[in-house]
Amino acid sequence: MTKPSGELAPYAAHEAQGKGRRYQEPAASYRGEYQRDRDRIVHSTAFRRLVYKTQVFVNHEGDLYRTRLTHSLEVAQIARTVARALLLNEDLVEAISLAHDLGHTPFGHAGQDALNACMGEFGGFEHNLQSLRVVDELEAKYADFPGLNLTFETREGILKHCSARNAQELGELGERFLSRRQPGLEAQIANIADAIAYNNHDVDDGFRAGLLSLDELRQQALFDEQYLAVHARYPQLEDRRLIYEIIRSMINKVVTDLIDNTTRRLESLAPDSIEDIRAQRNPVVVLSDAVYKKHTALKQFLSKHLYRHDKVREMTDKAKLMIEVLFERYMSDPGQMSGEFCLSATADDANESTKARVVADYVAGMTDRFAIAEHDRVN
Ligand code: MG
Repeated sequence: MTKPSGELAPYAAHEAQGKGRRYQEPAASYRGEYQRDRDRIVHSTAFRRLVYKTQVFVNHEGDLYRTRLTHSLEVAQIARTVARALLLNEDLVEAISLAHDLGHTPFGHAGQDALNACMGEFGGFEHNLQSLRVVDELEAKYADFPGLNLTFETREGILKHCSARNAQELGELGERFLSRRQPGLEAQIANIADAIAYNNHDVDDGFRAGLLSLDELRQQALFDEQYLAVHARYPQLEDRRLIYEIIRSMINKVVTDLIDNTTRRLESLAPDSIEDIRAQRNPVVVLSDAVYKKHTALKQFLSKHLYRHDKVREMTDKAKLMIEVLFERYMSDPGQMSGEFCLSATADDANESTKARVVADYVAGMTDRFAIAEHDRVN
């Protein structure tokens, strides 16, 4: 049964009850506030760079693999399906999904780990917090304010995790990490849509790269159940179509479970508003226990067999080294960085810690190919 779009549940993020932007702005004539957030994100420089950033495979390894951009689009697509089915705010869920990885470094998690280690004595580096920093501070586009001046609800969704130390400095946005409360449902959806998207597209990319075999994948219940169903219907199907049929069935299975299970949870909780959702101790948007177990098992399987595969590690080890070299080089010679980064790092009042944060911002903003070119240039 298709539900009508446009009509929101009482516990959805309603714009009229939103907590607003950091800098007040007049309303737009034809667009809602979350729609404007989404549009600002799509027009941002950081968003365009996602096309050249690694998800798992380094950008130049092949044209068919996911990049952070296509990953973000898949997250948005899954998240919108769930939001629409639950009568939640699709514009908001889309804005959060498209922005969730804006702070990612080049070279995926390897890049983030390396940069975090480099920043050890200067407060560390968290990609989630960096995504917020990109939309709050680093995008320089508007005359009247720094960043994109997004709404509270979009920023709340972008900040999925945060250490207690950093949360204390974030005011209202950081409060829920200290009091262990939840964000709105749209933020919760974008969060789990992220995991559903990468679990599935990494199976696809890992299989295409020849790093995961059908036999290995069939050890995973979530995969094998769909394999058996597809194989029974199409016994002659060649691998490429077989894998895709399995993946689309897996996504459908997990997303349907998420919608059904969350619907049941919402019926028993009967929240009246987004504040009732925020007051919860535990997330409301959750998979059923049975599917959650299989989903998590697949996640762990990918972590062991794909993300830590020798071939992937070879690349990630190289990437870590490149990040370390770049960080050290810019710290000792900030003049190697471009324009405003060089200026901020060499300003009269810039101490070592300020300089390190500027260098981290510069390195984190790089695409894979720019980081590789820079590494060759400064070496
Ligand atoms: Mg992601």
